Amino acid sequence: MALPPDYHMHTPLCRHASGEPVDYARRALEIGLTEIGFSDHSPMLRDDFDDWRMRNNQLDEYVEKVRRAQRDYPQLTIRLALEVDYLPGHEGWIRDLAARHPWDYFIGSVHYVSDTWAVDSPYKLSEWKHRDTFEVWSIYFERLTMAAESGLFEIIGHADLPKKFGHRPTQNCTPLYERFLAAAKKHNCAIELNTAGLRKDCKEIYPSRQILQLAYQKGVPITFGSDAHAPEEVGMNFAEAIQLAREVGYKECWQLANRRNKSVQF
Ligand SMILES: [Zn+2]
Ligand SMILES: [Zn+2]
Repeated sequence: MALPPDYHMHTPLCRHASGEPVDYARRALEIGLTEIGFSDHSPMLRDDFDDWRMRNNQLDEYVEKVRRAQRDYPQLTIRLALEVDYLPGHEGWIRDLAARHPWDYFIGSVHYVSDTWAVDSPYKLSEWKHRDTFEVWSIYFERLTMAAESGLFEIIGHADLPKKFGHRPTQNCTPLYERFLAAAKKHNCAIELNTAGLRKDCKEIYPSRQILQLAYQKGVPITFGSDAHAPEEVGMNFAEAIQLAREVGYKECWQLANRRNKSVQF
């Protein structure tokens, strides 16, 4: 059985990744992948919003880097995508981005629970001390639900990112998950199995087995992503992700091209 595509990888343009797309492509072939997709952190409306993404005037350069990898490795299918931050009110900007290049898909990710706090930032860890964990998770999933409902994304990224540093609420979060997954199903959004969680303090794939089980029951499609920020991370821990998906019941994942999906076996 073929390995599923790795649809989540970055480039140095985001200022916290290393290696060029050609290096990621070479690594993908080494480990037997047949398809990958670049989904680097998209620019924000204002370049000074934060410092961990490409700038607005680098979007063409990004596309050119991916095109170069496509030219150098024609034996590998390489998709062109973006990981786009979803914040309420940014919908118009995201539509503008979508019109600028022929993207294969957009991953909609929530990192920000307010305009100034990205929950996965190691530089903002002290914020957690001032916040109620359940409240943060509630805001996060509310935004994730809005992202799914926006119709702007084919994939919702790392669905339970707030667990990254181990902050888990004691309250029952199932209603938050249910609401989000119902929206994902209704608006035809996949969720990704993102193996980067295994490399973080939470030591667990995003999302949890519980969320994935609920997703399967609701018929929400899946994709796979390593969230590689370096070539050696391409396809990392895919065996574990495939095992988890199969244990839950999944046999198919999405393949994406020109913002259209197709179900394929993995
Ligand atoms: Zn990143
Ligand atoms: Zn992300």
